[in-house]
Amino acid sequence: MTARFDRRGLLIASASLATLTAAGCKKVPATCPPGNMSSDELSVRATLGYVDQTPDPGKPCVRCTQYIPATGGDHCGGCKLMKGPIHPNGYCRAFAPV
Ligand code: SF4
Repeated sequence: MTARFDRRGLLIASASLATLTAAGCKKVPATCPPGNMSSDELSVRATLGYVDQTPDPGKPCVRCTQYIPATGGDHCGGCKLMKGPIHPNGYCRAFAPV
């Protein structure tokens, strides 16, 4: 049995591995639900267009200068610009590369 990988597949696999490694996690959940947040806090997330999965593999939260890495075994980190859990592979319009 042989496996074939095209260039795009290898890039995606590489980016995913880098994200997991950077997050210091063996398994990262697909989402980081905001939980109990005020409407103002949710509004900031919505205004900046935060999503748990970046549409651009080159711009995940874990590579953003605003990202606060997860601690204490948590999978989701934080962000200096908004409250609530932030997925290491998330994204918003305020992305600023490290
Ligand atoms: S500013 Fe946006 S892209 Fe950067 S860590 Fe915060 S949510 Fe992620």
